[in-house]
Amino acid sequence: MKLRTTSFPLAMLFLGALFFTTNTLPAQKKKKKKELVEETTKKKTKEKTIDELVKSSEKLEGLFTIYRDTVNGSIQLLVSEDQLNKEFIYFTQVANGVTDAFSFRGAYRGSRIFTIQKYYDKLEFVYENLSYYFNPDNALSKSSNANISEAPLASFKIEAHDAEKELYLIKASNLFLKETLSQIKPPNFPGRKPTDFSLGNLDKDKTKINSIKNYPKNTNLTVSYVYSKSSVLNGGSQAVTDGRNVAIQMYHSFIDLPENGYKSRFDDPRVGYFFTSQNDMTSVNAANYRDKIHRWNLVKKNPEAAISEPVEPITWWIENSTPLEFRETIKQGVLEWNRAFEKAGYKNAMVVKVQPDDADWDAGDIRYNVLRWTSSPNPPFGGYGPSFVNPKTGQILGADIMLEFVYHTNRVRVEKLFDAITAADSDKEIWNNEGHNQINCSYGHMMQFNTQFGQTVLELVDANPLEMEGLRKEAMLELIMHEVGHTLGLNHNMKASQLFSPEELDNPEFLKGKALVGSVMDYTAINVANDPENQGPYYSTTIGPYDEWAIQFGYQEFEDANEMENLLNKSTKPELIFGNDADDMRAPGKGIDPRVNTGDLSNDQIAYSLKRIDLVNGMFGKIKDKYADKGSSYNDLRIAHAILMGQYAQAGNVISRFIGGVYVDRSTIGQEGSTMPFTPVAYKDQKRAMEALNKSFFSKEAFKTPNDLYNYLARQRRGFNFFGGPEDPKIHATVLRFQTNIMRHILHPNTMQRIQDSELYGNSYDLGEFMTDLNKGVFEADIYGSVNSFRQNLQLAYTKKLIDILVGKSNYTNAAKSMALYNLKAINRMANNSSGNVTSRAHKTHLRTLISNAMEEIK
Ligand SMILES: [Zn+2]
Repeated sequence: MKLRTTSFPLAMLFLGALFFTTNTLPAQKKKKKKELVEETTKKKTKEKTIDELVKSSEKLEGLFTIYRDTVNGSIQLLVSEDQLNKEFIYFTQVANGVTDAFSFRGAYRGSRIFTIQKYYDKLEFVYENLSYYFNPDNALSKSSNANISEAPLASFKIEAHDAEKELYLIKASNLFLKETLSQIKPPNFPGRKPTDFSLGNLDKDKTKINSIKNYPKNTNLTVSYVYSKSSVLNGGSQAVTDGRNVAIQMYHSFIDLPENGYKSRFDDPRVGYFFTSQNDMTSVNAANYRDKIHRWNLVKKNPEAAISEPVEPITWWIENSTPLEFRETIKQGVLEWNRAFEKAGYKNAMVVKVQPDDADWDAGDIRYNVLRWTSSPNPPFGGYGPSFVNPKTGQILGADIMLEFVYHTNRVRVEKLFDAITAADSDKEIWNNEGHNQINCSYGHMMQFNTQFGQTVLELVDANPLEMEGLRKEAMLELIMHEVGHTLGLNHNMKASQLFSPEELDNPEFLKGKALVGSVMDYTAINVANDPENQGPYYSTTIGPYDEWAIQFGYQEFEDANEMENLLNKSTKPELIFGNDADDMRAPGKGIDPRVNTGDLSNDQIAYSLKRIDLVNGMFGKIKDKYADKGSSYNDLRIAHAILMGQYAQAGNVISRFIGGVYVDRSTIGQEGSTMPFTPVAYKDQKRAMEALNKSFFSKEAFKTPNDLYNYLARQRRGFNFFGGPEDPKIHATVLRFQTNIMRHILHPNTMQRIQDSELYGNSYDLGEFMTDLNKGVFEADIYGSVNSFRQNLQLAYTKKLIDILVGKSNYTNAAKSMALYNLKAINRMANNSSGNVTSRAHKTHLRTLISNAMEEIK
């Protein structure tokens, strides 16, 4: 029982007494007193029993017994004496929403621990703060609540009390009908414009409890929250029926804390598990982490056996909305993980069943782990594998996987996909008010980006429908394995695509029965062979060596700490290499180790990416004849072109990360096979990357699209508004975008700072040489003659970037600024000629004017 201050009510009592006294004159005293006695008696007789208060209600028994009024639907909650001060889990997820309001079906919002505390005639609901740990043996633990705020959520008057049965009754509608338990309406993000879509205010008349399902160990409610306003400027996407009234349905669950002897396992930076973070406040270590990894409670049926079935397997249900033709692949994707569990000592740890069509439960029922299937407008993910845990221990209590049909179609705009896969992290799009450390998964985007390319390749070689089907199945299998991996507690391993060399990936014999990567938790490029003869699997069809090892760490019963440490010490093996989203380099300037990336493949990413560019260059010339079905629109041709451009651009992103790159080793001091934590990328590889960028992205010869293709890149028309702007192909803008994407990384303040710093510890591709190579690549070939329109764009963009480094607001080092100045002066000299055609001469004047204006600024 927590101690609470009573000074406030005492003071109120005192003031009340004073008020009473001063207002009571002696003559009236007797009469008043009589009235008061009568009043109190009346009040007493008015006090109703629980039975009286619930007599017009239907009783729903479960963890918390609920009474629902049969006339107006309001609810009352019964709390027993032994439930007071007891810890319960609260978990919430979106039953249905619209992505416009950052709510989408199946989104988990994290779990919390709450208690119900009695305060005089009230019951209070309070969230606990679990971020800190105080060793009970340490005297410091006596002050364990210092400066840590717990969150009182709500306070309800006790309507009736049954002293004999030790029960309290409260009116609980407002616990659910307001945003008491969880914030649902997104906050007003900074930078949001008044013209952006936004929800109205919570409408208490329209908000309602849809359903209540009560079980002995959990109480579940579905609530429909309606947000209303009288007029809207932006009515949202087509998924919003009427922007003035938007409904978001949430599942709320109260769950009994499991008592099963589950032992928490603590995180290790060499393996990627989701965890619940906690700081040990009684520890003297600088890194006082007690982060509990998320894992299921698997217990061997036969504890003596090396391999035993678990007492309770992890059971998955394929939702009855799943297309029949996908079910077998989905099942296979789940059961693949049993191989990993066998290494950890469990047989049949994962079990798959199909939800009957007439099931009386739905996926919102937290007792079932469901592989769900939706086809929604503007889906944020192609696959999404959330799990929810007991936040006190990290034990996973339930999970779902959301799969989006649209990602197995060609319906998403390719340009949008490219933006999605190069965004720093997709969780920015998805508002998460619980701040839990589960990173949202956007592998669906990458998978579709990949599969669209694979299909284009197959179409060009007239592959038969079976091969096409095989490709799609492999894609789905890998996606399911990936999402299931999340539900087992694993986070991403963006370094796992280092497993094989480009040659090995070109060898179908060698690849037989193997995963293409160390872990299916990576976002890998599709493995397409340039020569169809060498085509092996496009995707991993089984889990990788890292996956098996990671499951061992999370689930094996270890004899002692040594045994676990021995397993972890294998982390230096090349096939167990690990780096996650925190380190990845998908967005410019982010991350430092080029091996930790998305959309890449092989242990020679530069060579592999150049092969991809070669393949794409060869395809540009073939697509026009291929997509020429009489009577069709040119939509497919336009899509095919965009798909090829996307692959080309992605290859450049991967290559660019080697410049200024630093390899990271996560192993511990003295661990066998370990290297230094930081080792700069070798000179020859940085040089190779720079040459590749100059040749394939900056040179006159880059982007080999035949000009006569452009006449045909037309989207399918749809009435008046089938596009946002003019429909002509924006060829120069697209190419420039890909070039500037690369420059955004190699000329990023972080990259330039790191090039200089790493010169001190092994980097020999110094800032001077890198900037000179770049300058030459952008100018040397044509600045003394005619400059074509693509190169004019590039030269101007690059010059502006140098000016920005020199005089802009970004935080560049002095060395970067000096090199920018040095190069600008070199450009000014080179551009000081009047050869070439008219536009080239105009272009050179433009360059010199920009530079001279910049020089004025630094005077
Ligand atoms: Zn993922």
